[in-house]
Amino acid sequence: MKKSVRGIRKGLSLIMLLTMTTFLLSGCGTKDAATEPATDAQPTKAAVAATEAVAATTAPTVAAEQTGSGQYIGISMPTQSSERWIKDGAAMKEILEGKGYTVDLQYAEDDIPTQKSQIENMITKGAKVLVIAAVDGSTLSDTLDAAATEGVKVISYDRLLVNTDAVSYYATFDNRRVGQQQAESLVEGMKKLKGDGPYNIELFAGSPDDTNSFYFFQGAMDILQPLIDAGTVVIPSGQVTQEAVGTLRWDGAVAQSRMDAILAANYTDGKTLHGVLSPYDGLSRGILSSLTAFGLTGSDLPVVTGQDAEAASIKLIVSGDQYSTILKDTRELAAVAANMVDAVLSGKEPEINDTKTYDNNVKIVPSYLLEPFIITKDNYQELVIDSGYLKPEDIQ
Ligand code: BGC
Repeated sequence: MKKSVRGIRKGLSLIMLLTMTTFLLSGCGTKDAATEPATDAQPTKAAVAATEAVAATTAPTVAAEQTGSGQYIGISMPTQSSERWIKDGAAMKEILEGKGYTVDLQYAEDDIPTQKSQIENMITKGAKVLVIAAVDGSTLSDTLDAAATEGVKVISYDRLLVNTDAVSYYATFDNRRVGQQQAESLVEGMKKLKGDGPYNIELFAGSPDDTNSFYFFQGAMDILQPLIDAGTVVIPSGQVTQEAVGTLRWDGAVAQSRMDAILAANYTDGKTLHGVLSPYDGLSRGILSSLTAFGLTGSDLPVVTGQDAEAASIKLIVSGDQYSTILKDTRELAAVAANMVDAVLSGKEPEINDTKTYDNNVKIVPSYLLEPFIITKDNYQELVIDSGYLKPEDIQ
């Protein structure tokens, strides 16, 4: 088996350190001490801190022992229209079946009633644990109450389940950090490819019914707001609130039409668009289609970010059309969730590393946060291909 991203993290900590140092030296850091690496750290201290941060987010090792004894686990994923959820589901199924569990993996195709009925069905069939990545994290409260009544434990997967007490643990990535990384790579890309600012950018956010969207956007604004305030970054459309820039159901076609409208209203006078903050590869591809249709190609394309390291977007990164994406290794997330399943069924406390960030309006959900990584043309080979996350043929 190929080494996971975790396996090459030692090298990564150096890359992270260099990126972080370059970024901070370039004066683009946020002043928010709670979210920013210490600006006064000496390189050696920072190196230690980066290495420790990486070590702290290393996923717990999954024991190959047979702990499942055929117990029935329901996995409810939001959609197969995005590559990552297919990988998440497949990885979890493989790990849990390897441990001897019986796994029922269902996809809701972004439809809330479908997801509800799939979960209700799992409860009826006697699921012991439900692992759920919700289409809309706020609409499952009744269903989850029913699960709690039956003694079924619930693990929130990647997306936070809100407005419910019936969720035991949350396995996810450091979502605010994802947003910061998206904005950091946007600024870095513009500096590298678009000369000195001020830079004209446009913002896109994720689906308003997915709590992750808020963390991603908040993280991005940690980095961008000080630059907007300083006049280094300008948003010609004036669309800056998350409400204005959200994209329902993470739909690439919706992002494409919004980009069309923004270009028609603000960029027909020859104004240059230098960058687009996009929170997900599927949106980035819609945005790039719009930009191309508007006549922007090659070096005229703005710097466009993304998330999920989808094969189609890695191809666009290699060709230079998309600047960056964020890798979140779904194999590691699946392993974390599988460990949580094991722990709740044996009455043990699973490994968690965050007990203060994820308030779901009823309680703070104990979480395990994994580390995301910025991917560009410079490091995709090592982090995405050599790590085995994608196969070389996936991007041909
Ligand atoms: C996930 C992202 C994904 C997005 C769209 C979010 O909840 O965290 O990885 O890009 O949903 O599927």
